[in-house]
Amino acid sequence: VKEYRPELPKIPEYIARLPVFRGYPVPWFVETIPGKDPDFRIVSRTKLAAAIAQRRCWVCGVNIPTAQEFAFVIGPMCAINRTSSEPPSHVECANFSALACPFLARPKMVRREDDLPAELSLPPGMMIGRNPGVALVWITTTYTKRFAPNGVLIKVGEPSRVWAFAEGRNATADEVRASIESGMPLLREAAQREGLLALSELAAARRRAYKVLGLAA
Ligand SMILES: [Zn+2]
Repeated sequence: VKEYRPELPKIPEYIARLPVFRGYPVPWFVETIPGKDPDFRIVSRTKLAAAIAQRRCWVCGVNIPTAQEFAFVIGPMCAINRTSSEPPSHVECANFSALACPFLARPKMVRREDDLPAELSLPPGMMIGRNPGVALVWITTTYTKRFAPNGVLIKVGEPSRVWAFAEGRNATADEVRASIESGMPLLREAAQREGLLALSELAAARRRAYKVLGLAA
């Protein structure tokens, strides 16, 4: 019998097949090291490649049917640059992760950066190393990918729907807005170094994100 944490949302069918560690389902993408406890921060490179090549769900490992849309779990800043360092999932697996993953669900939890294996470096692209508090589930029919030395950089396509979650529930518009605005200074700084064009592109990307997220400008 699998013992889940009582605060977890209803376990979707495919996730119920995953092993359980400390009351949490162990996501399919986690690297398994024989004789060691699973570390949810460590992504398997083999699975990263398999997820993309075989349309496997990042969370449960089961194929995403071709008729189904892709669901990306991304931080709010990723709604601006439309990037993800992780492959897509089934819609229900993505929703479960956004609600249940302690890093995504609880903004006050600090992500440990210590004792990661040496070969595990930061994901490619510009990542913001803080817990965003708000997790988005971005549903789309398309994405493009580029392999980088330490992973994959995915550009997510135009969304048909986007949901925002915080602390295991739907996020409020204020939370989504605050979460985006807290990351803007970093993006502005980077754009400033690139020049005026980058700054106006960032402003346009921000407006586009606000629209997609249903926020008033
Ligand atoms: Zn799945």
